[in-house]
Amino acid sequence: MRTMDAGPPREWDSPMYREAVAQFQRVAETMNLDENIRERLIKPQRALMVTFPFRRDDYSEVDTLFGYRVQHLLTMGPTKGGIRYASDVNLGEVSALAMLMTWKCAIVGLPFGGAKGGVRVDPHGLSRAEMQRVTRRYTAEIINFIGPNRDIPAPDLGTNEQTMAWIMDTYSQHAGHSVPAVVTGKPPALGGSVARREATGRGVVSLIPAAANHISLGFQGARVAIQGFGNVGRYAAIGAAQMGCSVVAVSDISGGLYDPKGLAVEKLATWVDERGDLSGYPDGDSVSNEELLELPCDILIPAAVGSVITKENADRIKARLVLEAANNPITLEADDILREQGAFVVPDVLANAGGVTVSYFEWVQDLQNYFWSENEIVARLREIMSRAFDEVLAISLKRKVDMRTAALIKGVQRVADAKLVRGVYP
Ligand code: NAD
Repeated sequence: MRTMDAGPPREWDSPMYREAVAQFQRVAETMNLDENIRERLIKPQRALMVTFPFRRDDYSEVDTLFGYRVQHLLTMGPTKGGIRYASDVNLGEVSALAMLMTWKCAIVGLPFGGAKGGVRVDPHGLSRAEMQRVTRRYTAEIINFIGPNRDIPAPDLGTNEQTMAWIMDTYSQHAGHSVPAVVTGKPPALGGSVARREATGRGVVSLIPAAANHISLGFQGARVAIQGFGNVGRYAAIGAAQMGCSVVAVSDISGGLYDPKGLAVEKLATWVDERGDLSGYPDGDSVSNEELLELPCDILIPAAVGSVITKENADRIKARLVLEAANNPITLEADDILREQGAFVVPDVLANAGGVTVSYFEWVQDLQNYFWSENEIVARLREIMSRAFDEVLAISLKRKVDMRTAALIKGVQRVADAKLVRGVYP
């Protein structure tokens, strides 16, 4: 009889962490996973919390900031995951996201465990100089915790290529030589990968042919609606149009546009580059972000924020295929409703894994100092995504479970197998 409390440990407790554990426990139950492994995997292996001083541009003002880095699992290789800057970042959120990264990497077969980090600060209120000081001091605080063979950060909410460049520079100054492989998502001038920016969106749409084929939907001319026109949504739109789909609706924070005959995607991208958002674009009818989700379309790609498809609107979604490009865009209740309606949902852990896959390529290229062409990167990305999709679909058909459960079974099983053969030390 197990005497320890098998629930989420108190130190990491937060609504998001509880949800990540609950999702894992459900899958573990379906798989009949070894009890000892189950117990081990709901607790992050390492969690570092730091506080550090941050001098504002007003020299007399020095704040104390909280920073975090959590490594969920060191079994699979180094750990990998983003760093976010936001005013509500906390240990529970970062730990939940680190666990999800473990599953995502294992689903696509990358040799990483999951990690995540963050600083509790509103990046929008910071000048460029302040951003740089926060980043360099945070890096100094976690410097012994990260490294090309230990833990490799990447951008996430509120951080970008420039933030990664400062982390790489700070780490390299301490090492005494350049260490580009310590982060991914760097500018190409520092050993960043070409095609990283497009990777997640490209990866999402690379699954359209196989997914559409599975539900007997012809994808040539299929109507696609995309919520979010940022890094992910824009390249998903461009990719979908290039493969012969008709992108009938797109949106961003300023609202959406709908044209049943199809929108000119490249023109939309140029408009956003020049003006910042989609507002004022001359073609198409205006729709709200909520309306976009319910438009008549064959393929829906939520690529903006989480929890946009809920039990309130799920029964009005008309798409037959939903690709989760954003993290967690469909709530658990809505997922059940969509399934009952017969929609085929490709879950985030699989659909948006193109980003971390090209990050993996970047790390490999940095370690070898040998850089691949864009064509090689795109071809290898397609190959990995398509193999992962086929494997997840096979599990889903064999076990008669939905794609989300199947994807998690694949990820958790890979991790469990590795843990069992490595054994317990000492
Ligand atoms: P981004 O900031 O580049 O773009 C976000 C887009 O969503 C923008 O067009 C913005 O205007 C729009 N948006 C913001 N709030 C909105 C709202 N409330 N309603 C509608 N639209 C809104 O971000 P991104 O990198 O494109 O990421 C989008 C999603 O994909 C996020 O959920 C992110 O976690 C996830 N994701 C991104 C990557 C990546 O490589 N960038 C990888 C995996 C997952």
